[in-house]
Amino acid sequence: MRNPEVVVIGGGPAGSSCAILLAMRGHRVVLLERESFPRFMIGESLLPAAWDLWDRLGVRDRIEDAGYPVKRGVLFRIEDTEGFHEFLIRTDEFPQYFVRPFTFHVDRAHFDRMLLTRAREVGVDVRERHNVNRECRRRARHGVRASSASREGRAVSACRAE
Ligand SMILES: Cc1cc2nc3c(=O)[nH]c(=O)nc-3n(C[C@H](O)[C@H](O)[C@H](O)COP(=O)(O)OP(=O)(O)OC[C@H]3O[C@@H](n4cnc5c(N)ncnc54)[C@H](O)[C@@H]3O)c2cc1C
Repeated sequence: MRNPEVVVIGGGPAGSSCAILLAMRGHRVVLLERESFPRFMIGESLLPAAWDLWDRLGVRDRIEDAGYPVKRGVLFRIEDTEGFHEFLIRTDEFPQYFVRPFTFHVDRAHFDRMLLTRAREVGVDVRERHNVNRECRRRARHGVRASSASREGRAVSACRAE
């Protein structure tokens, strides 16, 4: 992509979501991710308040169809001098906060790759194995330089966003 308006660094859920929403609004977006997906990542329990976001990103069906384990609440187990105490919070007890009474435990490698695929679909120029290691500024132009594993660590990409 020539002359991107936005360079997103990192293709985790934050970077992918940001890139998707910007591209859906017509912006030219490049996303640089240092790893090659799928890659292992910790942090798999989705929040039940995120369904509106999945709709905006256009990935609700993919999450529902992925076969992830269903999550209907959360159990906190806390220990003090008197022993263990358990607090169970069921999502369906709080319809005022959650449009649906459940969510999922996702496989982050699978989930993150799904979001990155969605970013490509809406026009984001996604470049994996691009490690951003320098910021560039010249007059009004801002950008970054990234080294690519396929080019043995040499700087191969200078994206400029005005
Ligand atoms: C033990 C643990 C348990 C957790 N459990 C949960 C949970 O159950 N539910 C939950 O919602 N959250 C959980 N989290 C938090 C969750 O993992 C993070 O909030 C989430 O991963 C943040 O997403 P992100 O997109 O901001 O960052 P990340 O997922 O970390 O993604 C950042 C991406 O940027 C890339 N990157 C970094 N530097 C560069 C660079 N210089 N150039 C190019 N690319 C780069 C990385 O390769 C990575 O892919 C947990 C976290 C931990 C540590």
